[in-house]
Parts: sequence; C-alpha cells; structure tokens
Amino acid sequence: MKTENQFEAANIRMEDQELTVLSFGAGQDSTYILYKIIRDPFYRARFVTGDFIVVMSDTGDEHDHTYEHVCFIAKLCSEYEIEFHFLTADQGYHPNTWQTLTSQMIRNSSIMSMMMPRSCTDNVKIKPFYNFLNVYIANKYYNQELPNSTRNKTWIKRFAADYGKINVILGIAAGEEKRVKESKTELKKRQLDLFVKVKRKNHIVWMMNCILKTYPMIAEGIDRKMAQDYILATPWPLPPPSNCKRCPFLSKQEILWMYRFIPAEFYEWVAMEQAKIDKCSGLVRNLGVKGEKLLPEILAEAIAEYGHWTNDQLHEYKMSHGHCVLSKF
Ligand code: SF4
Repeated sequence: MKTENQFEAANIRMEDQELTVLSFGAGQDSTYILYKIIRDPFYRARFVTGDFIVVMSDTGDEHDHTYEHVCFIAKLCSEYEIEFHFLTADQGYHPNTWQTLTSQMIRNSSIMSMMMPRSCTDNVKIKPFYNFLNVYIANKYYNQELPNSTRNKTWIKRFAADYGKINVILGIAAGEEKRVKESKTELKKRQLDLFVKVKRKNHIVWMMNCILKTYPMIAEGIDRKMAQDYILATPWPLPPPSNCKRCPFLSKQEILWMYRFIPAEFYEWVAMEQAKIDKCSGLVRNLGVKGEKLLPEILAEAIAEYGHWTNDQLHEYKMSHGHCVLSKF
C-alpha cells in the first residue's frame, strides 16, 4: 500500500483505479457486447469494472458498411457518455510499416495469403490497440504527455503494478472457443522460444502480467445467432460481419461479391497479387492470395459455381460471413 506522499511524489491519482476496455471490431460479436453493456446494468456490473472505454483500430481496408456502423457507434457512445476511440493510421498508433492492410502490400510487393503466417491482425489491430492503451493510461492516470508514436508498454505495466490487471473484453462467441485455446497454445509455444527470441518474451510477459482477457459471450454461452437475435430486439442496427475487403480468407462467393459490387478494389487486389508473383518469380514456391491458383482463376471458378446467384443472394451471403473470427486477438 502506498502512502499519500508516495502517490504525490509519483504524481498519480490517489484513489484506486480499475479499467475495462472493450476491443471493438464493429462486427456482430463486439456490437452485441456493447449494446448489452449499455442496456443491461447486471451485465455491465458483471463484466465491467471501473472506468470503461471502447477502442477500435482501423485496418484501412474496412467495408463502407463497417465505417457506417463505426459512425453510429461513435454517436451511441457519445449519447451514453462512453469514451469511444477509433484509431486511424494518421493518429500514430499503427506500426510504421503497417499503416493499413494494403499499404505494406503495395510498398513491398507482398500479399496476405492463406498459405502464409497471418501477420495482419497483429499489425493492424492488436499493436495499435495496445500502443494507444499505453499512451491513454499515461495521460489519463499519470498526467504524462506521451507522443502517440511511443512503442513501449511502460504505463500499461505501471498501471497493472499500481492497480491490478487491465480488463480487456474480447468478442469471441460461444462455439469459437478454439480461438482462445489456440491463443494459449501459441503463448506456450512462444514461451518455449524465450531463450532465443527475447523480443517475443517481452511481448508475451507484459501482456500476461498486465492484461486480463475476458470473453463474456463464452462465459454466458452466447453464440453468433443468439447475439444476432438480441441485437435485432434492440432499436439499434445489426451490423454485417466485419472483415477487411482484401482478406485472404474470403470464400469464392465473397470474391464474386467483390467482383460484382466493388470491382475496382477487386482488380487492385489482383494487381497487388501479380506484383508479388512478379517480384518472387525466381522462387520454386511462389504463391498468391489463395495459393498456387491466382485470383483471376479463383474468380473464374467462382463464376462457374455461383455465377447464377442473384445480386440479392450474393449480398445476403456476404452480410452473414466474417473472417477475423478465424484470427486470434
Ligand atoms: S479480416 Fe482478414 S485481412 Fe483483416 S485483419 Fe482479419 S484476418 Fe487479416
């Protein structure tokens, strides 16, 4: 327990602090959690402790419907006096080499591929989220003005040491527990690398020591369908699943959707893939977004298999499928 003088010397606030942060993806799971926190005081009491903020990192490649939902959420949070932070690349929290999903692909003639390790979630979602949190905590709880380009986790660690772990709420639905289990397995695997990969050690150790990850949907057995039903009973919108436009995990139906509804972005993606193929032309294994078959070939297959679908059918399919559900936060 600190004495009053110690607190004054450290220039920090004296009262106990707790902080809960909802990691918002603008899809159905995190929207369900936010709506429920606003509407249900018992739910809020169970999952939110202390100050509450909502934070979303912009991948720079969200769909228009996702950006529209973000605007709605910003207004909703304002109405209910909840802090909402939408982290765009210009604010300085994104890695310099990953300002957006596609910017690094264009600069390096690289591509995100189903066949390669998935680095996108870490770079355009997780890193900006925790870079922001560190600066936010320094400013709000310790009166420290840090540049947004700060990359250490000093103030997250300090907060955890002074007040306990920060509660980070993640929108993972019941039935997707594998994502949580995989995360733990991956953490263990990385821990085995501690003796050779010091950087990874630092990353994992501070997160394990300072962050309490909470999964309310798993705790309450709420799957995606139940979340949708809850949202539809509120006066507020049910958002489409959120995923990047150029996500390597798009299905053939979604690739056909892109071709029909946002062809300019589709052909930009085709050009990015071709640039990668050209750059690596000397390699024995030179893979594109989906592997050996390149996007134009995948599109041809999609047209052959699903070209008879109406626009409405394709749209309905698109609005019910997401991809970051496959990645780990
Ligand atoms: S939606 Fe796809 S491309 Fe975007 S961050 Fe998630 S896995 Fe990566």
